[in-house]
Amino acid sequence: MPKHIPILLVLLAAAIIVPVLLSAQTKEEEEAPAYAKCAHCRKEKFVSVRAKDKTGKSVPLCYECAMLPRCEYCQMPSEVKTDGGDNLCRDCAKDCVKDKTEAEKVMKDVRQVLTMKFKMTTKHKIIYEVGTRKDLNLEADGEHNELGWFDPKTIRNKPQYTIRILTGLPRDVFRSVGAHELAHDWMNEELPHLSDKPEIREGFAEFVAWSFSKAEGNKRMMDYTEGRTDEVYGGGFRKVKAMMGDAKTASEWKNVLLKEFPLKGKKNDR
Ligand SMILES: [Zn+2]
Ligand SMILES: [Zn+2]
Ligand SMILES: [Zn+2]
Repeated sequence: MPKHIPILLVLLAAAIIVPVLLSAQTKEEEEAPAYAKCAHCRKEKFVSVRAKDKTGKSVPLCYECAMLPRCEYCQMPSEVKTDGGDNLCRDCAKDCVKDKTEAEKVMKDVRQVLTMKFKMTTKHKIIYEVGTRKDLNLEADGEHNELGWFDPKTIRNKPQYTIRILTGLPRDVFRSVGAHELAHDWMNEELPHLSDKPEIREGFAEFVAWSFSKAEGNKRMMDYTEGRTDEVYGGGFRKVKAMMGDAKTASEWKNVLLKEFPLKGKKNDR
């Protein structure tokens, strides 16, 4: 009988001490500085800051990596400088669009999505170009840091449509810029009287890009559009978005805009 007493005592002591030790350990872990795998150098280190990656997820960065220059399109340290002059992180650089053939392929797809999701379409043959800001004349209006340009022209009495996009944009950014420029093409055809209202013209193109990003489940490009603070693009976007209410297709958007900005004088005689 007395043989069992020490065993019982040991068990009793363990029952009391083990939970105390465990709780102490958890507490210590909580209070210690975060030690984790840095999302950039992938080494186990003390985490200095958290940064949003390409997908918008918050990831840890170590002290050294946090000091590096950052990607133009997310908060990760940059690794690549594109011909367009942008710093890109590893992930954004992976699928960036940097040549004409690729751009044509992606734009064909963007155009198809706009037609399918929003019935937004024109019959125009469009020429697509990629290049540096200087090549593409994107520096013409530097204050908005434009990434693309829709350029309708008349050459020998024939209309010619060109869309120019900055080289080296991450694919999702490129797609969103493409949707913005295609919205200009559509508006130029359907609502030409709005082309001299910069806030509505750019606001509508941003609204189309935002709707497109939403349809694609692209949260970061939605955030990007929503976060623009300048008057023409950001302000215009908020104005047009508020105007649109439940309107979901290009013809409904057109009706809203026509109601808000009627054609002056006689009806559209196109
Ligand atoms: Zn690191
Ligand atoms: Zn990035
Ligand atoms: Zn624009």
